[in-house]
Amino acid sequence: MSTYDIAIIGGGIIGASTAFELAAEKLRVIVLDRREPGREASWAAAGMLSPAPDSPRDLPLAPFAVQSLRLYPQFVAAIEESAGKATGYARDGAIEVFFSTEAGSERDARLRELRQLGIAAEAISADTAREMAGATGAEVHAALFLPHEGTVEPRLLIDALLAAARNRGVEVRGSCEVSKLARDGDRCTGVVAAGEKISAAHVILAAGCFSSQVASEPSLSGLAPTRPVRGQMLALRPKTGGAGLQRVVRSQRGYLVPRKDGRIVAGSTLEEAGFEKQVTAAGVAKILAATLEMCPELADAELVEMWAGLRPGTPDDLPILGPANVAGLWIATGHYRNGILLAPATAKLFREFITGSNVSFDVRPFSPSRFAGRELWAAQTAT
Ligand SMILES: Cc1cc2nc3c(=O)[nH]c(=O)nc-3n(C[C@H](O)[C@H](O)[C@H](O)COP(=O)(O)OP(=O)(O)OC[C@H]3O[C@@H](n4cnc5c(N)ncnc54)[C@H](O)[C@@H]3O)c2cc1C
Repeated sequence: MSTYDIAIIGGGIIGASTAFELAAEKLRVIVLDRREPGREASWAAAGMLSPAPDSPRDLPLAPFAVQSLRLYPQFVAAIEESAGKATGYARDGAIEVFFSTEAGSERDARLRELRQLGIAAEAISADTAREMAGATGAEVHAALFLPHEGTVEPRLLIDALLAAARNRGVEVRGSCEVSKLARDGDRCTGVVAAGEKISAAHVILAAGCFSSQVASEPSLSGLAPTRPVRGQMLALRPKTGGAGLQRVVRSQRGYLVPRKDGRIVAGSTLEEAGFEKQVTAAGVAKILAATLEMCPELADAELVEMWAGLRPGTPDDLPILGPANVAGLWIATGHYRNGILLAPATAKLFREFITGSNVSFDVRPFSPSRFAGRELWAAQTAT
């Protein structure tokens, strides 16, 4: 039987960044992934680092998202230094475009909303948007520039992060499915993974949309009610001399994210399709329609890749972060559409939780207790 200070279930961006952060405390950390680590949602993501809310349901997340964006430069610097690998981080800002006859008033309402949340944004003309983006269609009638937003290349980031974690002494095991949490009365004492008991003083559940499957036993019911929300993506390569893109462009219907190799990643869909990761005709049609509305110059771009990933959704679209109702068990999941952005703040938070330091964010809106049965929670917290 192996013994660790921390066992982390899931080697996506959340598990890996938390492991990297905790390893700086000289703790013995193991990350367990049932597949090759980093090949689920974290691999599929677009890589936008945008704290701007997508819907009113995102509003409680904005302060945490803004903090996480602030942590990004030091987060990627530490990873790149430790791994000696690039993460594709860029901080070029993003452009939001508006099309309707009401474009000006929609843009102004959005500007007020962003400023109230402390998110820097400025109104720009459609012509300026065209110049700053490198391309956007003639139908754009109003635009906003969000200067502090950035991007990463998620596939580079997760590979660099796993290498950086290993260099700090984290043990990363792939093809190692956690089938069960090990319990001793009211305490979680480790996990059972690939038939082996792995003991740990703390277990962190970071299994993305699969977290609900791991925490499925009745006594944990409701702690991590994640579900998969499919997102399809395309990559386009503009014709030589054709439309290039300087920075992220997005509308209410989709987004375009430039990669350093000249490709443009286009997304996405939000679908309740269970654990199916197919790319569908309707999904591709939707993404292409939004793409060509934003940037008609891409009509002759080559379609070079299509893929889909499963976001870890939750009943209120907010992440689930904090101690479970069982001593030694922690939940770090449900990052839904923002897990790449939220990784640095999540990792910092769990370092503070586990080392018993002052917690520097107000994470009460994200408490695991909000979904768990009240009686269950009261019984556990009273002991
Ligand atoms: C199409 C798309 C676009 C996105 N774009 C963005 C974006 O632009 N910006 C942004 O911030 N976010 C974006 N996201 C969201 C982001 O990708 C996720 O929030 C984030 O990757 C979640 O990370 P995670 O580590 O929790 O989950 P995952 O990356 O899914 O990792 C979970 C891991 O747990 C493992 N696992 C599951 N069950 C077990 C088990 N029983 N035992 C061991 N291991 C297990 C899995 O194999 C997996 O590797 C996007 C997501 C999608 C799908």
